[in-house]
Amino acid sequence: MANKTALPVEQKTLDQIAVTALKGVGAQLAGKLARIGIYSLQDLLFHLPLRYMDRTRVMPIGALQPNLNVVIEGEVRACDVVMGRRRSLVCRLQDDTGTLSLRFYHFSNAQKQRLTAGTRLRVFGETRRGSAGLEIYHPEYDLLDDAKPLPLQQTLTPVYPATEGLTQPRLRSLAAQALTWLDHHAFKELLPEAVRRQRQQLSLAEAVRYLHQPPQNADLEQLLEGEHPFQARLAFEELLAHHLSLLLLRRQAQADGAVPLKVNPRIKKQFLHHLGFTLTAAQQRVDDEIAADMAKSLPMLRLVQGDVGSGKTVVAALAALAAVSAGKQAAIMAPTEILAEQHRQNFGRWLEPLGIQLGWLTGRLKVSERRLQAAAISSGEAQVIVGTHALFQEQVEFANLGLIIIDEQHRFGVHQRLSLREKGAQGEARPHQLIMTATPIPRTLAMSAYADLDCSVIDELPPGRTPVTTVVISDQRREEVVERVRLACEQGRQAYWVCTLIEESETLAAQAAEASAAMLAEALPHLRVGLIHGRLKPAEKEAVMDAFKTGEIQLLVATTVIEVGVDVANASLMIIENPERLGLAQLHQLRGRVGRGAAASHCVLLYGSPLSQQGRERLRIMRESNDGFVIAEQDLQLRGAGEVLGTRQTGDMQFKIADLQRDAYLLDEVKACAQQLLGQYPELCHEIIQRWLGSNQLYLHV
Ligand code: ADP
Ligand code: MG
Repeated sequence: MANKTALPVEQKTLDQIAVTALKGVGAQLAGKLARIGIYSLQDLLFHLPLRYMDRTRVMPIGALQPNLNVVIEGEVRACDVVMGRRRSLVCRLQDDTGTLSLRFYHFSNAQKQRLTAGTRLRVFGETRRGSAGLEIYHPEYDLLDDAKPLPLQQTLTPVYPATEGLTQPRLRSLAAQALTWLDHHAFKELLPEAVRRQRQQLSLAEAVRYLHQPPQNADLEQLLEGEHPFQARLAFEELLAHHLSLLLLRRQAQADGAVPLKVNPRIKKQFLHHLGFTLTAAQQRVDDEIAADMAKSLPMLRLVQGDVGSGKTVVAALAALAAVSAGKQAAIMAPTEILAEQHRQNFGRWLEPLGIQLGWLTGRLKVSERRLQAAAISSGEAQVIVGTHALFQEQVEFANLGLIIIDEQHRFGVHQRLSLREKGAQGEARPHQLIMTATPIPRTLAMSAYADLDCSVIDELPPGRTPVTTVVISDQRREEVVERVRLACEQGRQAYWVCTLIEESETLAAQAAEASAAMLAEALPHLRVGLIHGRLKPAEKEAVMDAFKTGEIQLLVATTVIEVGVDVANASLMIIENPERLGLAQLHQLRGRVGRGAAASHCVLLYGSPLSQQGRERLRIMRESNDGFVIAEQDLQLRGAGEVLGTRQTGDMQFKIADLQRDAYLLDEVKACAQQLLGQYPELCHEIIQRWLGSNQLYLHV
């Protein structure tokens, strides 16, 4: 028994009682449980069933269909070892209505001996269609004895998430035992009475009891969908825990304060004057929101969402201008070298004429060059610094960093976001942070996954763009598509040909792109075909991109390295091979490379046939919508939250019970409740987080 705390066991709450308090749980079993994160009775009771089986009624064999989970009772007629492709023990079972076979591939001699003709059995298992009628593989069974009647289950039978070395019967009996402790020991109720009453919250104990052992008449479908009120009760608390952890993160990030940064109106006017275009209303609005944040002595934590091509870069440059106006440095970090290079060019074009010094730092700089840049950054001579992750390596020291801009944040996780925050720390003050993403985040996801950030949306494209027309074509019509490329290029346009792969292997992708480039060069001998992929050296990549920008290359064959941000206005045709392999958000990003100029642009989704039902559905969405938010919502519905947020984020956002999409309707209440708790019951917040997030707590990593 874990009596580490001084409390007598009667007064302990379930989180304070170790699983070893249960009968039959020794060190070995406790070890197995620990491997799936179960230490206390609370953990065990929160290990909820995935689904349920109905073992409350015995079914007549004659009425069975395949693929049902059933209870049957009957008499063994025969039991033989059968030599098929694999040796098995087959037992014929009969009741008044019919017969059925039980089949065991693993069996002992003793088992065979017990299953003699005439023995009566109660059997649990899933029916399947066998060569000679219905069969059940490896059923669970009990021997029936008229002298000792065996009661049927009174409740639905839970099926738990499977783990090695822990069988279902074992987990069931452990859970059943743990449930009896609920009579004398409470969960620590973490939602204060007042909050619960106000929100009509059911009790935790009731919820857990019900979900482990639902009554016979429970709505099974509702339970399987995760929509039962008791499930919602738990999901609510779990969402609350995640939300609170992000809010605390935000509170912590803002505890230190920041230096207010205001743009010099004269410099801003000059900047806008030389820009060559006017800001859209959406850009102006977002610029105002950012300016208001930066004028405060709290660090800004703002996410700007804007579809590809909506003009986020200029908004970022304006923010940098405010930092420079106030004598501070601004750093902008891009996820790839190509994008960093593009920012360097834009920022250089816009800021250098105003007398602002640009710094430049990527992982690929030569040692001597890097030393020069690092010196300029640490002396403060470099005022706006553009780069990749390299900007935030330990060796790099900023003289007085006032603003951090992260472009295309979906590639950076919460943790990276946090570590950057520390980078510019100067005494008590922290830099302002601006995060820009071209992956629109559905509202429900943004509310939960980015609760620590304020959101701005650039929901308008600059004028003069013609929307991209998307067509979906089978790769059996590849020749027509190649012909189309030829026509476009002969008319002075440029085109992308994007190769995708199932595996995220840049080497294989490079090979595929090389093969496609060779094929296209042969089919289109008069065109200048270029090739870019992740295996090229940075200088080679830059050379290819430059050649494409200047029009020297007409057709650029690429892997998805061109996904984000690259801007070539004359490119008006994009072919994407095997688009069914990519997520919708990624396809939308790719497609955003075209349609940047005034010419009508086209995107051809050249799919490998046959397409799955879902594949067809997804390409239809791409064809019908050009709106990143619409696409993101649909993607969320088709694929679920984990996929939409991308692998990096899923680690941050793993739920035991809640499902962001299914439980989205809870989020408004979760938010309100979180605010209330933070304000009135701060001490409970940490406990709620601890219960649900345990060691995954984000704010611990700061
Ligand atoms: P993204 O939001 O994808 O980062 P960019 O900032 O790269 O978009 O902008 C795409 C293109 O649109 C760039 O060439 C940029 O100079 C141009 N642009 C941005 N804002 C405007 C505007 N208000 N009017 C016209 N062109 C604009
Ligand atoms: Mg961009």
